[in-house]
Amino acid sequence: MMTEHTAYLLLGTNLGNRSENLSKATAAIRMFLGRVESQSHIYETEPWGKPHQPNFYNQAIKVVTPCSPLETLHLMKQVEFLLGRDNSEKWAPRVIDIDILFFDELAIESPVLTVPHAHIAQRRFTLDPMSEIAPDLVHPVLNKTIKELADACTDTLAVQMVDVVYQF
Ligand code: ADP
Ligand code: MG
Repeated sequence: MMTEHTAYLLLGTNLGNRSENLSKATAAIRMFLGRVESQSHIYETEPWGKPHQPNFYNQAIKVVTPCSPLETLHLMKQVEFLLGRDNSEKWAPRVIDIDILFFDELAIESPVLTVPHAHIAQRRFTLDPMSEIAPDLVHPVLNKTIKELADACTDTLAVQMVDVVYQF
């Protein structure tokens, strides 16, 4: 029997049609990685790290996958590439960014992959969408739940749930 893993991913986009970028990324994740078990709402968020660029749309998703963490990373890079991401500048505006937040209860430190993602506790744009889909998930390194991390987070950049608007 195939071993299944649970990965939490954070999608981010601040270039082009942001809602469409998120749906295309989710569709590609379904095809390449596996079943999407839950999705947060979409949040519009102020850029973190590098200001003076358009606001992001962020969304957290839970995926069940037979892939390993490194396979997942490589597949997510393929999806970023397929959707037209240009990697020339760090923290610059991007069509899509897919970060691995958690992978089972693993703690991984490698040159290409850090899991849990290094900045979860400092970023409200990550904690707010994660609070919706996994408030009781325990961060395996910090030993705190998402809810506890969100309550303690001092990030004041705006994070606002986007009303669902159906586009025809
Ligand atoms: P950022 O997400 O910080 O804006 P990138 O998406 O360009 O920047 O990622 C830079 C590198 O970070 C990737 O090439 C990848 O190897 C590495 N990385 C380390 N840990 C993770 C993780 N948990 N999820 C995604 N990428 C990661
Ligand atoms: Mg990334």
